[in-house]
Amino acid sequence: MNDRVPVREDLQGVEPYGAPQWDIPVRINTNEMPEGPPKALIEAVAARLPTLELNRYPDRDALELRTKLGALVDLPPAQTWVANGSNEVLTQLLQAYGGVARTVLLFNPGYSAHPLLAQVTQTTVVTEELDDNLHLTPAIAQRAVERHQPSLVIIASPVNPTGVVVPDEAIRALHDASSALIVLDEAYIQLANEPNRAITLMHELPRLVVCRTYSKAWRMAGLRLGYCYGPSWVIEDIQKVRLPYHLNAITQLVGTLALDVMGDERANVAEVIAERERVFAQLNTMPSVHAWPSEANFILFHVPQAHHVFTELVARGVLVRDFSTGPRTPDCLRASIGTRTENDQFLSALRTILTTHPV
Ligand SMILES: *Cc1c(COP(=O)(O)O)cnc(C)c1O
Repeated sequence: MNDRVPVREDLQGVEPYGAPQWDIPVRINTNEMPEGPPKALIEAVAARLPTLELNRYPDRDALELRTKLGALVDLPPAQTWVANGSNEVLTQLLQAYGGVARTVLLFNPGYSAHPLLAQVTQTTVVTEELDDNLHLTPAIAQRAVERHQPSLVIIASPVNPTGVVVPDEAIRALHDASSALIVLDEAYIQLANEPNRAITLMHELPRLVVCRTYSKAWRMAGLRLGYCYGPSWVIEDIQKVRLPYHLNAITQLVGTLALDVMGDERANVAEVIAERERVFAQLNTMPSVHAWPSEANFILFHVPQAHHVFTELVARGVLVRDFSTGPRTPDCLRASIGTRTENDQFLSALRTILTTHPV
């Protein structure tokens, strides 16, 4: 007799998702925001908590939260959905439209959680390559969907790890050359130059869904709250796969109060955008470094012997993300934008490494 039940065959080689969560002074490897939400939000939550009836199930449909999130972009709650992080929203979309005998198209390089979510929902993954500059061109988009006839396409915009926004023409090509659900994972879009372009496109492209999150611009990765905007039939279909009472009452309360207290999420990101531009300019003054212009809160950069540089940064108390073993990102590292002090620590550590070990 076995003491252990074998896991599902298709999960046997799967590595659990996991960026390092090391205790290190400057942690800029997971694109968290450097500051938490304002004290006024914590106070508003504390004032409202006693009124929550925790003996009751939460509102299954999270209607108040969906109504307020929809209002941000002039969409009704029937076109707005919420779940435990945008990763759960994506999982629900894969459960509803992917699964056994269906295919999701992803692009490389891309966000490492996407293939994992596809795999656990038993959706077949096909991957196509971005161009030499790591951009999605309309031609690549069209060829990819024509070749694979996927049920879904998922791509982050801005793309993680490059920070590049997917152009409208590429989104249009994905949509118009396929009958797939086109899912834009806009985790960082509030930091982009034109944050609501895809919402405008939604009015023209009937199979477009836009996912967003409280984890980045809203500065609450710890809350686990994500949302999406899409056609009302998508929101209806998601309700077939969501768990009963999937979004707890405390999350719904904090998410709703955040909209009242924090208001325009663009106001929350101005400092981070200014710091991003400063870090980008500084990186490009270093002769051996090449950085991608980013519209997110991180910067991908190429540096010779990147893995060695990564280790040396760790030795100096700075944790970035090491992409150097990625097939399309050799010698690339990704740094999230931290506080001004953290960014200076990162830049000066990098400068020291490059001058003491010239590469
Ligand atoms: C950070 C990130 C998310 C956030 O996921 P949550 O589950 O909402 O925390 C989603 N997509 C991409 C591409 C990200 O980089």
